Amino acid sequence: MVDFKEKNTLVVYSEEYWKFDFGRTHPMRPIRIKLFYMLLEELFGADSFFVYRSPSSISEDFLYTYHSKDYIEKLKSEIPDLESGLGTFDNPLVPGIFEWAFEAVKGTVTASNGVSEFRVNFNPGGGMHHAHPSKASGFCYLNDIVVAVNIIKRERPDLRILYLDMDAHHGDAVQSFFYRRDDVLFISIHQEDIFPLSGKIDEMGEDRGYGYTVNVPIPRYSEDEDVWYIFEKIVFPLLERYEPDIVFVQLGADAHRDDPLTNLYLTTGIYKRVSEELARLFKGSFVVTGGGGYDIVNVARIWTIFVSSLAGVKVPDRLPEKFLRISIMEGYDGPFIEDIPSWSGLKSQIKDTVKERVDFLIKKIPLLARG
Ligand SMILES: [Zn+2]
Repeated sequence: MVDFKEKNTLVVYSEEYWKFDFGRTHPMRPIRIKLFYMLLEELFGADSFFVYRSPSSISEDFLYTYHSKDYIEKLKSEIPDLESGLGTFDNPLVPGIFEWAFEAVKGTVTASNGVSEFRVNFNPGGGMHHAHPSKASGFCYLNDIVVAVNIIKRERPDLRILYLDMDAHHGDAVQSFFYRRDDVLFISIHQEDIFPLSGKIDEMGEDRGYGYTVNVPIPRYSEDEDVWYIFEKIVFPLLERYEPDIVFVQLGADAHRDDPLTNLYLTTGIYKRVSEELARLFKGSFVVTGGGGYDIVNVARIWTIFVSSLAGVKVPDRLPEKFLRISIMEGYDGPFIEDIPSWSGLKSQIKDTVKERVDFLIKKIPLLARG
């Protein structure tokens, strides 16, 4: 067991993350990362439970553990190429795009290098789970998650990694890479029938990877209770039975009820509850990345709540003054950090579709079926 530092949380910090603009009509607003840092700083101050670390430089060669050389060349050239998903509305080719995407990879590698020192290692710039080996997709150009896992595995191939994808969208590219392996347990909870349309319940891995890919698509308007039910019945039992060495969390914040791109009905309550329970059940290190999230005030609130709860730190009730002023301009009139709880605690409210899918997985996934 690792003896963690007293300041038990590493937050990767880079101003490069928001020196970038996808244009006024694009939903991805990198400034959300600056807003998150501001909330963290204003709430907890400099002498706090976390330390900042800049992304450390890594060799470009690590990108080729996942991406094709040809694709990286195209990305660097900044010439539109539809076959590679480059220069589309979703994935515009703005000047410096390679460096920006590479910075996020460096950030997630820095976070995963922190596991021997810190309990929680968060890279808000990472979580690009739709980036394929030779194709940009869904605002993702380089897959920081797969590259970081590959680097960990190079030195310690025996380490078992549980990857939990909380983004409202399916983590398609990450799933594909580990689909035939049992040394990474991939779990994704996501809204059904939206981009990228994969992540059906019967996608459960292949060969020795069978049962190590677990998808729980959920219907629109799913609420905190639905998701908590999935955690109780599927995610927490998998965590206890798989006994991972490291837990990776892709913390997309776009499953929140106010997110403009999705139709789920989650509140900050579920993020807090899940985070507290993960911290209780797993005593090793967490690597947490950002992900989607298109209401920037909610992104900052959810990331702050999740990361501090994981670190065992109580979140103050009210938004600090400077952050609140910005929130009001963004349409959130606070003043509380957490949403008003919508939790009824009634099992009878859980959607039938969710119950059926959970039952299906309990029967089919060997780790769950064995008892
Ligand atoms: Zn998403």
